[in-house]
Amino acid sequence: MYSVSLECSTAEKDFLISLFWEHGTAGLVERDLPGGRTELRAFFEDEPAALAIAARTGGEWRKEEEYDWVAATRDSFQPILAGQRFFIVPSWRNDPTPSGRLRIELDPGRAFGTGSHETTQLCLEALERLVKPGTSVLDLGTGSGILAIAAALLGAKPVWACDIDADAVEVARENIARAGVAVHRFAGSARSVRPGSVGLVVANINATTITNLAQELARLLAPGGGAVLSGFLVTDRETIESTLALREWHTKGDWACVVV
Ligand code: SAH
Repeated sequence: MYSVSLECSTAEKDFLISLFWEHGTAGLVERDLPGGRTELRAFFEDEPAALAIAARTGGEWRKEEEYDWVAATRDSFQPILAGQRFFIVPSWRNDPTPSGRLRIELDPGRAFGTGSHETTQLCLEALERLVKPGTSVLDLGTGSGILAIAAALLGAKPVWACDIDADAVEVARENIARAGVAVHRFAGSARSVRPGSVGLVVANINATTITNLAQELARLLAPGGGAVLSGFLVTDRETIESTLALREWHTKGDWACVVV
């Protein structure tokens, strides 16, 4: 990436900006300077284009430092202890599992669910309390697959995981395969699930989706079944309570999780 920067007056600014766009800038930033002047800085993928526009405008040309976004994102995902039972670790690290913990190795790719979000942690804590060996679990909106893997490690069987986002389903497939657990995946949502077939649903999505799905959840739960629902804020309590009969209400920071 290359950049060309220059100072100009307000009268010159619009002309220069259109010139940068004509020469194929990837984007530009403006900074107001004292005395009504502006600093413009335009970025170019292409070196000859940057040199040409620098020569034409008298701007200062330079090569930008490359920033490795993929590496930065990877570094921000560190191993996490979640609930009493889980150790969530990036798939590219080999940190040993603390004793007594269940290891979940994840590469979240473009999907949500590294275990660092409060709502994911609240759901993991609820799964620890509620999943018994042989409980059938549906992870609705599986993202990285984290909650389905956690349920399977706790002995849930069978476990289904679905997501309406095709990328997430693919990411979940890889993480589930790495974990070596039995989880049935599918692209889609609650509608594809047989009535009365699920002992426990876990859905970490958002207040609107959760309240819209209330009827579907009631349909697919087996008698005596329940749901762990999250993805909403403490301030959404009224909305949630208006559609669902809460049995438990848990919070972490601004985020909430209910058992219904
Ligand atoms: N379960 C993971 C990821 C939650 S992110 C965790 O707890 O960390 C929420 C996911 O729900 C996203 O991947 C999104 O694509 C999916 N989603 C949103 N609406 C949905 C719906 N109606 N049915 C199924 N999945 C949905």
